[in-house]
Amino acid sequence: ADAVLDIRGLCVDYGVDDNAVRAVRDVSLTLRRGEVLGLAGESGSGKSTLAYGLARLLPPPGVISAGEVIYSPPDGEPVDVLTLAPLALRAFRWAETSIVFQGAMNSLNPVHKVSTQLIDVIAAHSPGMSRRAMLDRARELLTMVGIAPDRLHAYPHQLSGGMRQRVMIGMALALEPKIVIMDEPTTALDVVMQRQILRQIVELRERFGFSVLFITHDLSLLVEFSDRIAIMYGGRIVEEAPAALLYRDALHPYSHGLLHSFPALRGPRRELAGIPGSPPDLQAMPSGCSFHPRCPRRFDPCAVDIPVLGSPADRVREARTVACWLHPAGGAID
Ligand code: ATP
Ligand code: MG
Repeated sequence: ADAVLDIRGLCVDYGVDDNAVRAVRDVSLTLRRGEVLGLAGESGSGKSTLAYGLARLLPPPGVISAGEVIYSPPDGEPVDVLTLAPLALRAFRWAETSIVFQGAMNSLNPVHKVSTQLIDVIAAHSPGMSRRAMLDRARELLTMVGIAPDRLHAYPHQLSGGMRQRVMIGMALALEPKIVIMDEPTTALDVVMQRQILRQIVELRERFGFSVLFITHDLSLLVEFSDRIAIMYGGRIVEEAPAALLYRDALHPYSHGLLHSFPALRGPRRELAGIPGSPPDLQAMPSGCSFHPRCPRRFDPCAVDIPVLGSPADRVREARTVACWLHPAGGAID
């Protein structure tokens, strides 16, 4: 596959030595050129930690303790993001990869107009541009994300939460990145708004050809808009499959549980309630498969050995992987 980002064996810890908790455990995940890859999992499964880690934006005490993040530019040699020098890293973060973080809508500066904040981003990377050209570009970016260009001179508090989120997306797209990572706020926006925003991202992706890593609790959104979906549990990827295949035939009991605990498409958001029990304590991970204490289909090996993420032997012709003893691996695929 044509990988734009290839995450290999990534481990992220919070803290060091005896107090460290491992929040991302040996994650390997490939983002292909031009695709929307969805990442889902319950709260605390490590989704944001993975996103921050691969962009090297982990807040302390977060540390990357193993792995590689190989970025392949459209023209040029692949680089390991984890070893980039500061200047190259800065370019990677803005010009190559753009990240819209959880709660980003609240990170607009309340005392500055939207125009000022958009122009700051544009100016930082195109210092030679005239002010008029920058204003035109700012209007164009707002239009792209579905905001009337006359809102350019609004202050953040004059915009709804959804519009502020769109402004953040406009900023993220200002430098035409190759990869857009979106870590959706879980409660700040209702599902209807999330769908509108995601639909817009997918349209823009078709126009500009970037790749998207979209992170959410809400598997129903991902099924609708992603090309492929990866499911995370206790810091690991437990299943990865094309969206339609996952929807039709989830192999991991956890994926199955998530799919059947969709929050309502309309109306107020509810916490997922479909899987009894709670996510594992990272400081006292269960033996074997970390999902086994909650799994309705656990059997002998589950509490003993950790299942390896791999192509299931009973579905060799399908482009999917799963880490579950019900579907033991039959060899790696790429
Ligand atoms: P959510 O869906 O709620 O955003 P998430 O999947 O993004 O959850 P993370 O925020 O990545 O999960 O957290 C993964 C684990 O790492 C959690 O157990 C969390 O408690 C732990 N963690 C996150 N940030 C820190 C920190 N700064 N210090 C210590 N532990 C942390
Ligand atoms: Mg998160």
